Amino acid sequence: MFKLTIFIHKRGLFMNLLTQEQLSNIRSSVDIVDVISKYMPLQHKGSNYWGVCPFHSDTNPSLCVSPDKQIYTCFVCHKTGNAYNFIMDYENVSFMEAVKKVASMANIDVDIKLPLKKDSNSILYKIYEDSAKIYQNNINNSLALDAKKYLLDRKIDDKIIKEFGIGLSLSNSNIILNSLSKKYDMKDLLESGLILKGSSGMYDIYQNRIMFPLWDLEGRIVGYSGRIYHGEDSSKYINSKESKIFKKGELLYNYHRSKEEARKLDTIIVMEGFMDVIAAYEVGVLNTVAMMGTAVTKIQANLIKRMASNIILLFDGDDAGAKATLRSIDEFLKLGVTPKVVRLPENLDPDEYIKKYGKESFIEKLDNPINIMDFKLNYLKKGKNLSSDIDKANYVNDILKELEQVKDDVLIELTLKKLSIESGLDIEFLRSKIQKVEEVLKEEPKKVIKVNKYEQAEKELIYYMLRSVDAINVYNDYVTNIREKKYRFLARNILQFYKEFGKIDVAAFIDTIQDNKEALEVVGEISAMDLKADITKEDLKDYAKVIQEGNYLDAVEKLKEELSKADSLEEKVKLSEEIRKLRVRRMKDVE
Ligand SMILES: [Zn+2]
Repeated sequence: MFKLTIFIHKRGLFMNLLTQEQLSNIRSSVDIVDVISKYMPLQHKGSNYWGVCPFHSDTNPSLCVSPDKQIYTCFVCHKTGNAYNFIMDYENVSFMEAVKKVASMANIDVDIKLPLKKDSNSILYKIYEDSAKIYQNNINNSLALDAKKYLLDRKIDDKIIKEFGIGLSLSNSNIILNSLSKKYDMKDLLESGLILKGSSGMYDIYQNRIMFPLWDLEGRIVGYSGRIYHGEDSSKYINSKESKIFKKGELLYNYHRSKEEARKLDTIIVMEGFMDVIAAYEVGVLNTVAMMGTAVTKIQANLIKRMASNIILLFDGDDAGAKATLRSIDEFLKLGVTPKVVRLPENLDPDEYIKKYGKESFIEKLDNPINIMDFKLNYLKKGKNLSSDIDKANYVNDILKELEQVKDDVLIELTLKKLSIESGLDIEFLRSKIQKVEEVLKEEPKKVIKVNKYEQAEKELIYYMLRSVDAINVYNDYVTNIREKKYRFLARNILQFYKEFGKIDVAAFIDTIQDNKEALEVVGEISAMDLKADITKEDLKDYAKVIQEGNYLDAVEKLKEELSKADSLEEKVKLSEEIRKLRVRRMKDVE
């Protein structure tokens, strides 16, 4: 265990403050296989570990994690990197934050003082932070007895009030306006949406409501849902309007608090509203998020997909909930993920179900989700009379259409069997009717770029330079120039790394190019090549020969062009001589 204290003053300075060696030390204290396993399941195969790449839509294990090299590489999207990169990309955090996380996994006390983020939204976050303190303070006030009683009736006790930061806005009070206008510009307060401008001046939008904070993915309060708790009102809830920091379709209620538990259980339960999440929490079910809208958006589906491999959609038991389930299933299928479904009876929402039937019954429901096709069979059957030929035909066609999106062959087969029994139609006939939308989920075909043999040789030599000192020496001794800029940068930097540290270690090398996204991508592209593991020095020199041949041709081409433009005989002779010299040198070059 060692302790490092690092002060970060501005972006980019970080890497100069932590030496390459310190970065390597922190990183080497963990195994990349353990780090990635914290986020997703990996399977041991051969000398590597494999998993479904979280960085592109896929269901096949195309992400390869190498315990020897301490890097991961996706063979489809070519994402690559070391433990730091994985955390940066997966959690969407900065390099410094990733280093901190790795350090804490390794039990290394790295005291990194991050600079105050010059986030243009920081004032809005501050306003919400301050407002939350005021509302939370109110709920412990003597004026809050009614609200407390209302919450207790819903089994929301002090512990849960604290956990979910529940607060109270008082009636006839402009407490936010009065307290915060001393500290913030009115422009910012209006932008936050907590203050409104009316005909008789400014006022607090939330009055006499129980305040449920809404968080962004990082756990910052960015909005509220304010609920009435006595009397009648036209709106049961007032939700914050969308703002620069509050975009409903991009957030998931409870995301920051549930992600650990979801990862641990490899299951995430998606519900409609935040009250459902709180009710589930009350009975000890912590791996839940709420979508806060009428169906899961594409952005939310992507987030949820990364949380766990088992996804359970648990929406309200009414028809709107069924429709939301249908739409959300489609969003997941587009990402190549098949969720499961739990439906609740009597039009109940999860909160109501728990209150009515209790914890055990709720958990039993969660333990027995149905597959999406059983859900669809049930849903599409509703209101149809299957003894009528017209209804039956509609039903069968609806189901066949739904099956077109399903990739899981077993699920298709099971559904066809059920459909055959229900409709009395031959299963072979039904099977022939599915026009499978082939490969909808397939990645956009990569642009076919013709790579000439010189460029190919450059790439392959760099591939070996990332793993063998011999290759670096061949590059150093024989290659005068790498023609393709992005490969040139890498080759030079690998050589530089070798000169400095006397070895090549991809994972450590990656740290030295962290600020160059393109270079990192090229490392991924090159690492994903399927080249033989063992290579002789002679083979390596062959690459150098090809590369030098390319350089020679370039140089000759340039001279020939000059020759064609040359006026004087003297100049022509000089250029011809240069071309001749080049030819001779070419023979000698890589011998
Ligand atoms: Zn990938």
